[in-house]
Amino acid sequence: MKILFYDTKPYDKETFEHQLSQFPGISIDFLKTDISPKTAPLAKGYDAVCAFVSSDLGAATLDVLHACGIKLLLMRCAGFNNIDLETAKRYGITILRVPGYSPEAVAEHAMALALAVNRHLHKSYIKVRENNFSLVGLMGFNFHQKTAGIIGTGKIGAAMAKLCHGFGMKVLAYDIHQNPELDFASYVELDELLSSSDLISLHCPLMDSTYHLINKDTIEKMKDGVILINTSRGGLIKTDDLILGIRARKFFGVGLDVYEEETKNVFEDRSDEILEHSTTSRLLSFPNVVITSHQGFFTQEALDAIAGTTLSNASAYEAGNPISGNIVNP
Ligand code: NAD
Repeated sequence: MKILFYDTKPYDKETFEHQLSQFPGISIDFLKTDISPKTAPLAKGYDAVCAFVSSDLGAATLDVLHACGIKLLLMRCAGFNNIDLETAKRYGITILRVPGYSPEAVAEHAMALALAVNRHLHKSYIKVRENNFSLVGLMGFNFHQKTAGIIGTGKIGAAMAKLCHGFGMKVLAYDIHQNPELDFASYVELDELLSSSDLISLHCPLMDSTYHLINKDTIEKMKDGVILINTSRGGLIKTDDLILGIRARKFFGVGLDVYEEETKNVFEDRSDEILEHSTTSRLLSFPNVVITSHQGFFTQEALDAIAGTTLSNASAYEAGNPISGNIVNP
């Protein structure tokens, strides 16, 4: 099977090439450019294409892939909200993904953000480099014996709940399904979680029912001085309301690995550009906000798991036995 990879970074190439020898029937060509209606024609002559979380897989791109005879779309990520599923189904394009790779990778990054904003690591790093050893403005609070509120207790939320439990925190959870693994956590209604938690971490998927879950009303219900962490999807938080909440001194700190408007930024070096989105710049201007660029998944273990599952997906599909749990459009 010949696969064309889009939007390849050096670390993708390295990790996939490392495992390729275990899949003798597969060859890969790597492209730096991402997939779009303009670049999709390059897929002619290939059996499959491989894309990523912010690739444009709307109807126009799928029209071109179909014209090129592509029947398999390999997503080297869990999310698929960037694909026009109806169009893919109409063209008989099978979509395979990597539903879970390393929940701990994302959970540990969520905790890293929580600790960074709590202990002002982003400020102290700069201060000490400038020979400013003053502690003024750096006071945090103990997580020990405080309350963590985990919204969405699937794979990543459960891993975050365990980390919080390990810190000696009381753990409150909110989900439409309870996770029996979390016998140390108390499932409560969303309002109770919001009003009782010192640290709130978002781990539910972005869907119609969760879009702008964090908005003016839900922010008002939170404790004053709360830390809010989002490593899930930007659309869970209404950014304009978050900014109002930050201005109203609601938050001790906010840590965002994802945010609305991130699509153009994700994984790109835009340091020489003038960014057009004023809301992102406004968020960056607050001293108690730390933003990272969708790097929660980015550990060696997670990349190895993504490469292994993507190549297994390709190989099992070719053998006529696609791994059922990884099929997006059965
Ligand atoms: P998962 O499917 O294992 O868990 C999601 C949980 O959310 C489930 O328990 C589900 O019942 C719950 N849920 C669904 N609707 C809900 C609602 N309305 N309210 C509360 N809970 C609800 O998913 P996961 O693997 O834990 O991933 C969680 C999210 O993390 C993904 O959707 C993705 O957006 C994000 N993610 C981010 C990164 C990153 O690099 N930052 C990497 C991978 C995944």
